[in-house]
Amino acid sequence: MIYDVIIIGAGPAGLAAGLYASRARLNTLILEKEKAGGQIVTTDEVANYPGSIENAGGPSLIKRMVDQVDEFGAERKIDTIKEVELEGEIKVLKGEKDEYKTKTVIIATGAVPRAIGCPGEKELVGRGVSYCATCDAAFFEDMEVYVVGGGDTAVEEGMYLAKFARKVTIIHRRDELRAAKSIQEKAFANEKMAFMWDSVVTEIKGDGIVESMVVKNVKTGEETEVFADEDDGTFGIFPFIGFLPATELFDGIIPMEGGYIKTDEDMKTNIPGVFAAGDVRVKSLRQVVTATADGAIAAVQAGKYIDELEGTGYAGDSK
Ligand code: NAP
Repeated sequence: MIYDVIIIGAGPAGLAAGLYASRARLNTLILEKEKAGGQIVTTDEVANYPGSIENAGGPSLIKRMVDQVDEFGAERKIDTIKEVELEGEIKVLKGEKDEYKTKTVIIATGAVPRAIGCPGEKELVGRGVSYCATCDAAFFEDMEVYVVGGGDTAVEEGMYLAKFARKVTIIHRRDELRAAKSIQEKAFANEKMAFMWDSVVTEIKGDGIVESMVVKNVKTGEETEVFADEDDGTFGIFPFIGFLPATELFDGIIPMEGGYIKTDEDMKTNIPGVFAAGDVRVKSLRQVVTATADGAIAAVQAGKYIDELEGTGYAGDSK
């Protein structure tokens, strides 16, 4: 079977593309590695998505998006694509479970939080190490928390964590923050916030739960082991050191900038019939509202591309 559109990724960009494609009666498949949602499911308050006035969280917003694509008949499948052949009119996607053929591809693979990459980090995820303040802040009520990074995300999430924790220490590799001045001012004025400058985390230790970490001063080379308070027994470590676009699959095939896929304003990549939407592409604002807009544009353009290819009279679903 040859699909009209295969969308890789079921975050807001992929689901919006799925909605527009299936509603335009294109034979549509949405592929997702684990489960639908993308990064937004780790957010418990989506206050800036137009119409989200009841302050619905990420999971509820995604559930409604999924219900909507299901209603319009898009097929959804869990599989991890390992190899792609995108040149030619029929594109082939080779997954762990199956091989898929399609006339167009919409890449909506998003981005994932960058890990520190030190020993112990991976083993202790969900056991003191977390990349989602809104998901896990409540676990650290009246405890100590360390945030790694100096950008907007680190400082803003640090202040959010300070609503729960008794102290939040930002560990930054330089002696000044990258975050916007307005955000910095709020953080410096917050009594619960502390700063560990010129420092990086080189190891996280613990038997089933974070118990200590090694912090290195990059200027002096001195290493210090930070232990959990005896009464608490543990502390939180939240790395917020940027995001990595999920684009390895397209390395050397599609032009990128800083690992993000380059598209034109119609979401077209350099390969005819291949589009990219959402956080995965080069853009100035990575938000749910821009991701869904990208998805809609990509799906309409995919329809137009098929129309031109086959002369079917499709003109895009603009209603
Ligand atoms: P970012 O701006 O890229 O900042 C990443 C931070 O992590 C930097 O301070 C960087 O240090 C540090 N870092 C990077 N790699 C590291 C490593 N291996 N070890 C230790 N530290 C490391 O990322 P972000 O804060 O997630 O922000 C991403 C984008 O979203 C930005 O454009 C930001 O403005 C935007 N954003 C905006 C808002 C808002 O407007 N309210 C909120 C969140 C995010 P250096 O400073 O030394 O490079």
